[in-house]
Amino acid sequence: MSTVPSRASYGALLAGFRASAVARRDALSEAAAQLRRDRGAETADDEHDPEGVTLSMEWQRIEGLRLAAERDLAEIVEALTRWSVDDYGRCEGCGRSIPMERLRVRPAARRCVPCAERVGG
Ligand SMILES: [Zn+2]
Repeated sequence: MSTVPSRASYGALLAGFRASAVARRDALSEAAAQLRRDRGAETADDEHDPEGVTLSMEWQRIEGLRLAAERDLAEIVEALTRWSVDDYGRCEGCGRSIPMERLRVRPAARRCVPCAERVGG
């Protein structure tokens, strides 16, 4: 039998995830802003400037990562909202506690592994 984690330990887990998601989002925002400045400093002529093309691709890559970080952060915030009303860590499928090991990997998970596999995610 595994012990059921306390509500406080879920809160600590989520707070940690939120802090790292915020840090990642902020770092990527800063990287995107820096690239924008670099591009602004160069000519805006991406098509004829090899350096401009490279910056464009880098910008797209960072912007994609930034959006993913925003999405992760939104999921964590949503999970924290569930936690605040004492509805976090319970499987929507079977109603049992979602194992802590799963929540450590996917803090915003709404279902235990067997239920998630049944519904395909
Ligand atoms: Zn379940």
